[in-house]
Amino acid sequence: MPDDLLDYGWLIGIFAIALILGPLFALRPTSQKRGKVPMPEDWKARLARLPHAACIDDAQRLRWHDDVETFWSRVTVAGCQGFWVNADVRLTIAGYACLLRLNAPKGPPYPQLKTVLVYPQPFLVPQTEPDEYGLVPDEPIEQIGESWSGERVIVSWADVEAALMGDAVNVLVHEFAHQLDDESDDASGAPPWRDADRWAKVMQVEYDTLQRHRRPKVLDAYGKESPEEFFGVVMEAYFQRGADMARHHPALYQLLEATFGLSTEQVTWRTEVLVAP
Ligand SMILES: [Zn+2]
Repeated sequence: MPDDLLDYGWLIGIFAIALILGPLFALRPTSQKRGKVPMPEDWKARLARLPHAACIDDAQRLRWHDDVETFWSRVTVAGCQGFWVNADVRLTIAGYACLLRLNAPKGPPYPQLKTVLVYPQPFLVPQTEPDEYGLVPDEPIEQIGESWSGERVIVSWADVEAALMGDAVNVLVHEFAHQLDDESDDASGAPPWRDADRWAKVMQVEYDTLQRHRRPKVLDAYGKESPEEFFGVVMEAYFQRGADMARHHPALYQLLEATFGLSTEQVTWRTEVLVAP
């Protein structure tokens, strides 16, 4: 074989390997090293721009700030499919994660959580659960968020933005509710620090009522799936439709207000996108 043909062979080989491996590397998150990203100087002012920052009092705000700082230093937030994670993205995620646990016993928030992955839009996930015929469908399903037991949360940023503008769905609240649920050894669909008797009583009544409703007004019908999903759905309604919940499900609203400490009946939604995906 002539020398120059051999050279071309190498080039073609390298090109072929790049073609095969390229997409794999492209799928890897554009990561930022844990604890290496400094907080911006005005991080408290930026947090205050989140719609639910007005739902807490001054004492809660001190706790919130402490927890957000710890979350920022411990948890890696990484963008996928080219999404760039800037300070507002990190603060929004840390902010909502920590708003959910203002009434939790003091300690590092979400101690088992390592990573939050952020996609610009809803993402496709291969199906793993068999259907009613026992077959796992080939088609991937579109998701806006996932929570992997105690270690990882995945969200679509477009859906986070929609929540900040008042959409009924709040993917951050839903997925971090699952993380809190995972910390509860003794129950499903509940945060660890609840008043267990009151929680079980009110949630059971509401869960049973939702099962009977064909078109529920405030709670998303997805909550019928399981106690775990019911908890996620209830938390979304508490954050996004607090006034409606207080009117149509007063016992539920009062339970959540007592457990989580936020008064969500009045929220000032954002009118502009925080970070363009
Ligand atoms: Zn869920």
